[in-house]
Amino acid sequence: MIASAHVAAGALVGVIATRAWSAGTAVCIAIAILLGLGSHMVMDAIPHSEYMFMSLDHAVQVAIVEAILACGIVWLVLRRRVGRESILPVVAGIVAAMLPDLQFVSQVTALPAATELSNAGDVFHILHANTKAPPNAGAIGELALAALLLFVAARFAWRRGEPTPIKAEATPS
Ligand SMILES: [Zn+2]
Repeated sequence: MIASAHVAAGALVGVIATRAWSAGTAVCIAIAILLGLGSHMVMDAIPHSEYMFMSLDHAVQVAIVEAILACGIVWLVLRRRVGRESILPVVAGIVAAMLPDLQFVSQVTALPAATELSNAGDVFHILHANTKAPPNAGAIGELALAALLLFVAARFAWRRGEPTPIKAEATPS
């Protein structure tokens, strides 16, 4: 999947992990990391076209810039919706959701431990599925998925001490 889809999924799992805040920050971060890594496997198992229309070198450059932009959009969308307790889980969720694709960065740059990174990345891409859909349509579909995931993250965003949005909506006014 394209970088922004993984960033949005990472933000969503971070927001979800924050719901366990009463168990402590370390537990929230651990949940966010596990869900973030899991989200990468699940999303890459959905047939997709990602950056098939460009070379790996070019794709990595585009993905890095796109990931930075996507993180900025996540920050703009969530900054007023989440409390401080969500910051570390959301960051951990995004980093974990992006981590398996470090294998592609390692293939075009001189990252240390490139072989180990590539082998570890293979584990998370074992279910990877491509599609023969036109690349432009595929990219638009993946951007739409990223927007949907971020929308859901915003809906689930919550601050400690606030009633959950779902309960608040269920309360008659
Ligand atoms: Zn991947």
